Amino acid sequence: MSSKAIYPGSFDPMTYGHMDIIRRSAEIFDELTVSVLNNVNKTALFSVEERVNILKEATKDMKNVKVESFQGLLIDYARSKDIHVVIRGLRAITDFEYELQIAQTNRKLSGETLDTMFLTTSLEYAYLSSSSVKEIASFGGNIEACVPDFVAKQIYDKYKVTR
Ligand code: ADP
Repeated sequence: MSSKAIYPGSFDPMTYGHMDIIRRSAEIFDELTVSVLNNVNKTALFSVEERVNILKEATKDMKNVKVESFQGLLIDYARSKDIHVVIRGLRAITDFEYELQIAQTNRKLSGETLDTMFLTTSLEYAYLSSSSVKEIASFGGNIEACVPDFVAKQIYDKYKVTR
């Protein structure tokens, strides 16, 4: 049986921190589905389609990585794809409480068929978050250590920043 996992998130936009988790999970599992959550309650800088396209471009050389989007409950989406493992990244203790609650909820709701595995961030990306990248970019700051160049360009374009 081949091993499969799903890495869900907002990815608004994807950063090197997300890419690090994607690369490492893709080495552990036979097939990784990165899935952009279409969350109608959150206002995002990038549309779901733009976020999917960024992830597809960044992972185009990773043959066992697929990029999709979903809405609704993660457990329903995972079940429809017969996936039983969720990947999440942990940056700091502050992520832990939130992630613990979601992981336990998903396990319970799924009838204990969906488990979450956490990868701890590589230290060089521990400080990175999509929101801080957006904030820096909106003031014209340098984000080249945070996201690939083609993503930086799209973020600056959104804020009409020229660098
Ligand atoms: P969400 O809104 O679902 O938390 P994010 O796109 O912010 O979505 O994050 C998706 C996942 O990636 C989460 O598990 C988050 O902890 C993880 N993540 C975010 N930034 C980093 C980073 N710099 N290093 C490792 N993991 C990260």
